[in-house]
Amino acid sequence: MCNHDIAIIIIVVALVASLFVLFTSARLSEEKAEAARLAEREAAREKLALTLASYPNVVPRGVSTEELAKLMQSFRPAVFVSGRTELEQGDILSLRLEYIPDDIVPEIETALGPAIFTKDVSDGFSHWYAIVPVSHSRAAGEYGVTVRAGELEYEVNVTVSEYEFDFQNMIIDTSVPSVADATSAKAIAEFNEKITPLIPLISEERYWDGLFVMPVDFGPEGFISTQFGEIRITNGNQATRRSHLGMDLAVDRGTPVHATGAGRVLLSEFLLNTGNTVIIDHGGGLKSFYYHMDSVEDLAGTIIEQGTLIGTVGSTGYSTGPHLHFEMRIGEQPISPSMLMEPEAGIYSVQYGTIDGVGAAEERS
Ligand SMILES: [Zn+2]
Repeated sequence: MCNHDIAIIIIVVALVASLFVLFTSARLSEEKAEAARLAEREAAREKLALTLASYPNVVPRGVSTEELAKLMQSFRPAVFVSGRTELEQGDILSLRLEYIPDDIVPEIETALGPAIFTKDVSDGFSHWYAIVPVSHSRAAGEYGVTVRAGELEYEVNVTVSEYEFDFQNMIIDTSVPSVADATSAKAIAEFNEKITPLIPLISEERYWDGLFVMPVDFGPEGFISTQFGEIRITNGNQATRRSHLGMDLAVDRGTPVHATGAGRVLLSEFLLNTGNTVIIDHGGGLKSFYYHMDSVEDLAGTIIEQGTLIGTVGSTGYSTGPHLHFEMRIGEQPISPSMLMEPEAGIYSVQYGTIDGVGAAEERS
């Protein structure tokens, strides 16, 4: 090989190399430009979606309402997020469906029981928030949950584990007149007339926001005398076996009782069985019940804030000593109040998020 040949080879190699470099950099800059175009388009869509959300009555010229709905839907695909799925008896499963087309009402199918929905349209899009209470008596095991929103379908699997409920044998002198009155036929009829109809009540409007709080300050001496779900019998009689549906907070007589969360007061009066009673509807299917108080504030029909004074602790009705019976329900289902007060509770464990493709539920704990 002479020098001439070597020179030609070098020139050819250099030419090929520079062509390759040119080609690659052209492709890279093309990709960059494409990414920039996409980002720009996405930003424009976001901006338009936000504008449309802020001015729901402004429809761009030449766009029908249906087209607009589809357009907005394409900006914000539906998102399904599940809260904590490792649950205990008395717990709560929470689910969130974001950017659901306006005309669609989602459905939830599960052997755990009925779900309660609230709709949030505060940003112009339809978001649905669902809670499924897990009964204290729900059998432990795996449960499937199917969520349908129009053509979209999501599946999430939930595990319910057994919660070890305490057992208590209450010794009560049933000949004491106040105890006899509290368990009389009249007392039962009054309970069925005043309280029973309020139990299934579900209002769509949600008054509560954030963590629920303990309605009393325990002070140095206060304690929980009966837990949620505790199995109770009276005077050793197995026929009286029942689950305690609330929490008994043993504090001094006269201790102020405050609303656990914001809501509408459904009832505030004396009843033979539950004594001085307050019932608050927090909306979105949540209600709280306060029994055996010494006094009650006359608040029926009013909307109150979290922490509003609703009465004082006492021992009225079917009660053996000063304590507050505090009960919380989702729909008809009593749930553990303490679980509602933990920031990690199922009801708060839903975070915003996105999913990859339909049918996959992103779980957050
Ligand atoms: Zn109680």
